[in-house]
Amino acid sequence: MSLIRSWVASANAETTPFPLNNLPCGVFSLGDDDPRCGVAIGDMILDLRAVEAAGLIAVSDAPVFAQPVWNGFMALGRLAWADLRDKLTALLAEGSNAQTDVEPHLVAAADAVLHMPLHVPEYTDFYAGLHHASNVGTMFRGAENALPPNWLHVPIGYNGRASSVVVSGTHVRRPWGQIKGPTDDKPRFAPSARFDIELEMGAIVGTASNGPITVQEAFDNIFGYVLLNDWSARDIQAWEYQPLGPFQSKATATTISPWIVTAAALEPFRHDAPERQVELLDHLKDCGPMLYDIDLAVTLTPETGQTSTIARTNYTQMYYSAAQQLAHHTTAGSPMTVGDLLGSGTISGPEKGERGSLLELSWGGKEPFTLETGETRSFIEDGDTLALTGHARGDGYIIGFGPCNGTVLPALPDPYAR
Ligand code: MN
Repeated sequence: MSLIRSWVASANAETTPFPLNNLPCGVFSLGDDDPRCGVAIGDMILDLRAVEAAGLIAVSDAPVFAQPVWNGFMALGRLAWADLRDKLTALLAEGSNAQTDVEPHLVAAADAVLHMPLHVPEYTDFYAGLHHASNVGTMFRGAENALPPNWLHVPIGYNGRASSVVVSGTHVRRPWGQIKGPTDDKPRFAPSARFDIELEMGAIVGTASNGPITVQEAFDNIFGYVLLNDWSARDIQAWEYQPLGPFQSKATATTISPWIVTAAALEPFRHDAPERQVELLDHLKDCGPMLYDIDLAVTLTPETGQTSTIARTNYTQMYYSAAQQLAHHTTAGSPMTVGDLLGSGTISGPEKGERGSLLELSWGGKEPFTLETGETRSFIEDGDTLALTGHARGDGYIIGFGPCNGTVLPALPDPYAR
């Protein structure tokens, strides 16, 4: 697949994350006006509320793009998703005779405020990266017990808090929690001293289901993907996680990128899962390439310093695809709702510079890593901005997700102090 040229000149630049091939879905506002749906094209945003009102696109009987979320459109289903993509591609392609009608509905992205692109009814986070699970398991339980016995058979996950999902740019407050270190004789209530990120991709359920679905059906039900940072308080996590898994350590915030990149835009980048170390049960077996070749990176910018890239990896490092995770999620009968968000699990590669969390990069704080400024880090310090980036690289174009960042603010005073 090569670049689809657009009459929006900035969309043809080799370095734009938003060529016509992408058409990612976001929600934006200008000044005091209401947030509504738009797609990014080059350095512009096409106002779909306005385009729909002008009668230039019709994907349903009732307007769907004046809403401040994409859920209404997603609920129209796969045929509508393909229909919109076809219509927008035709309107924005070089040589389109609609240019003079469409052009007034473009706004400069620099003037827009981006909002949460969807309503997230439920949020689930998985633990599906083999290198991450091996690294964390080695630190928490020793090398011989690194991978739990179920790990190669089932995509492990937990039900998170949808209410804590925020859009890129939202500040994140260092949490308080109950902490007990390995050498402490009793737990204490304190601000987390081991606050961390997790580099993940989020898959968005676009078609509801009620009962078990196959891996292929699950693949078809996924509307698109976002970058996702699962902020994690490691000291709270290490004390609370047995036997029911993460709870308050993951309840502070989960940041997503403002643009949903559709599965259709990622289609040319589909990639096989890694070789299976044990055969999966039939209902989870691979049925085609369902991962994507997406380069991922993490940067850390101290309050006063320059930006350092601290990790680079790729989404193909996942052991389970989002389709396998979604299929597994439905096996016991749990209904899935349009807008449900599934975190992939931390994405780490086999090498040291490919680790998607500070816990792994600093090996539990034992091996602090050095930033461009010469400072070292084991975990996040107040004022640090952590950012994720993701790019699929085509022939003369790239598919990007926009920023996924957050700045960590100091903990508030003890919330229970009188
Ligand atoms: Mn996670």
